[in-house]
Amino acid sequence: MNMAVTNIGRRRFLKMLGSASVYATLGAAGVAGAQTQRYGKLVDTTRCIGCKRCMSACKRWNKLEVERDEMVTDRETDLSAQNWVVVNLRADAKNREERTYEHWACQHCIQPACAGVCPVRAIIKLPRGNVVVNEKKCIGCRYCYQACPYKVPRFDFVKRVTRKCHLCYDRIPLLNYMKPACVAACPVEALSFDYKHEIILEAKRRVSKEKNARYILGLKEAGGTDMLTILPARPQDLGLVVAPRKVVNQNLDKLRITGAGFMGVSGLAGLMYTYATLTQGKNKRDHDQSD
Ligand code: SF4
Ligand code: SF4
Ligand code: SF4
Repeated sequence: MNMAVTNIGRRRFLKMLGSASVYATLGAAGVAGAQTQRYGKLVDTTRCIGCKRCMSACKRWNKLEVERDEMVTDRETDLSAQNWVVVNLRADAKNREERTYEHWACQHCIQPACAGVCPVRAIIKLPRGNVVVNEKKCIGCRYCYQACPYKVPRFDFVKRVTRKCHLCYDRIPLLNYMKPACVAACPVEALSFDYKHEIILEAKRRVSKEKNARYILGLKEAGGTDMLTILPARPQDLGLVVAPRKVVNQNLDKLRITGAGFMGVSGLAGLMYTYATLTQGKNKRDHDQSD
C-alpha cells in the first residue's frame, strides 16, 4: 500500500476507497460534479535524467508488458498499446551538444480531438482533467488516432481496442495521497502533479528563473492541454510534433455519428460485401458453365 495511505485514518481511507471505486467507473464524470478542480501534470525535461522509472511505474500500475531493452538503453521508443509513456533523448537542432530526455504521453487536451470524433463516445474528458478511453465501449475504429494532433491513442491488436495514458484516473480519487504512478516514481522531481492553476504558475516561474527552462509546451498547443512540458528549446527545434495552437476538434465534432448509426453503416457494408462475394461466385459459375 502507498506509504501516504498508511498515514491517514482507516475510516478516512475507506471513505476515499469508496469514492475511488465509484470513480473507477467511467460514467463517474457526472458524479464528480461541477465543483471539481482540474489537475495537471508538469513535466520538466530540464530535470529529467532519463532513468525511465516513470515508464516502469506506468507499466506496473497498468499491468502492461515490459520490454527490457526499452528500459535499459537510449533506443528510441514509440508509444504503443503497451507503452503509454516513453522517454526519448532529443537534441536541439540549433545546438547539437544540448540534449534532453523527453517524457512523452497523452497531453490530456482541454478539448480533446480524440473524444470529439469517437463515434460511440468511448473517450471522455473527466472533470479532473483526465482524458480516458472506456475500453468496454471502444469499437476499434481508430478515428481517435487520426484526429489526435500528437497521434497518441494506439490500437491493441490483441484486445481490439484503443489504449493510452489516462493520467491515472484510478489513483486521483485519493487526491494528494496518491499521485499518478509515473510522477510518484520520478527520483528527481522532473514530474509533478497539482491543481492546474498551480502547475501553470510553477511552469512560468521556472521559465522566468531557471537558465535552461525556455518553453512551456501545452499552454496554447491544441487549444491548451492539462499536461504541460518545460522544454529547453522550441518543440520544432527538438524534433517534436508541433500541434496547431487552436482546438483541433471544433469541426471534427460535427462528424460524430451515433453508435447505432456506426453499427448500421458497418452492418450495411458487411451485407454489401457478402452480396458482392456471392454474386461474384455465381457470375463465375455462370461464366464457367457457358464455356
Ligand atoms: S493528446 Fe491526443 S489522445 Fe491525448 S487528449 Fe489530446 S487528442 Fe486525445
Ligand atoms: S499518468 Fe498514469 S497512465 Fe499516464 S503515463 Fe503516468 S503512470 Fe502511465
Ligand atoms: S522517472 Fe523522472 S528522471 Fe527518470 S526518466 Fe522519468 S521523468 Fe526522467
